[in-house]
Amino acid sequence: MLATTSPISYRQLPLRLFQIGPKFRDELKTRFGLMRAKEFLMKDMYSFDVSEETAMETYTVVNAAYDRLFKQLEVPFVKVNAATGIMGGSVSHEYHYVSPVGEDNLLQCSSCGFAGNSEVVKAPASCPSCNSSDLKEVRGVEVAHTFLLGDKYSKPLGATFLNTTGKPQSLVMGCYGIGITRVIAAALEVLSSDHELRWPKLLAPYDVCLIGPKQGSKEQPEAEVIENELLLNVGEICGHQELLHDDRKELTIGKRLLEAKRLGHPLTIVVGAKSVRLDSPKLEVHTSKGETYELDFSETLKLVAEHSQHKKSLERGCFQSETEESKSRSVGHQV
Ligand SMILES: [Zn+2]
Repeated sequence: MLATTSPISYRQLPLRLFQIGPKFRDELKTRFGLMRAKEFLMKDMYSFDVSEETAMETYTVVNAAYDRLFKQLEVPFVKVNAATGIMGGSVSHEYHYVSPVGEDNLLQCSSCGFAGNSEVVKAPASCPSCNSSDLKEVRGVEVAHTFLLGDKYSKPLGATFLNTTGKPQSLVMGCYGIGITRVIAAALEVLSSDHELRWPKLLAPYDVCLIGPKQGSKEQPEAEVIENELLLNVGEICGHQELLHDDRKELTIGKRLLEAKRLGHPLTIVVGAKSVRLDSPKLEVHTSKGETYELDFSETLKLVAEHSQHKKSLERGCFQSETEESKSRSVGHQV
């Protein structure tokens, strides 16, 4: 497009154009559900700069944004220096989720976390970053890719801008992509077990699922009072759109809980027989990490509030409040 319009001025640069839309690919073998499908959603962006230096600045800014996004999702990822064979260019990075279903071979250092694509890193004896010899092969799912293209495409296509002296000069390009469909599929693949789905907090369709007593059970009348209190209070804390109320009372609690686990809600609150007993009434709270707690009413609300707070800090891009565990897992590795 920039090649066919009259040259733009250096004053209009840098220019960054992005789109989010469906892509179609004639895959010979579609695999793992949404992981490799013939249609998928992708975000892609092209950047245009006046020089290698400013293009590199753009590259750094976009990479920082990608790093932030992948930290926000809290799925452990590795960022590797990539082969630039097909797309050309000088600088390129891939973002991978490590999973046995991945189609790329990565070499990862067990002591510092450094990772390289085996296509590029020709089986070195020791880690290029920390010299450890403890390297292991892992499989990676590529979820994003960044390229600094230089003038590889702009030059042959005649995509130019007018420089400060009014002369046409080749645009310096970068291209950047995130496989949105694949991020979702791969994140679920990495986080979930065979029996339970687990979402990144920011992608979960709901924060909380509320399961009330079964129709006709002994505890139903009293438990429903608590259920209604929770509906109101939990909704106020996390937002009513984030609360899924499973009011299919004809189904047992066990059946509804099983389905809730398959849907992977971060928190599932059960108002069962224990909630109405006179001696220390408790709600059962199941987390998508597979933990079960017996909590009283206010402790339950506190847990919901903590979850909402954590989500809000992720949205703001603050990672200080994250646990040590997730911190160690969500490191990006600049090569
Ligand atoms: Zn190392």
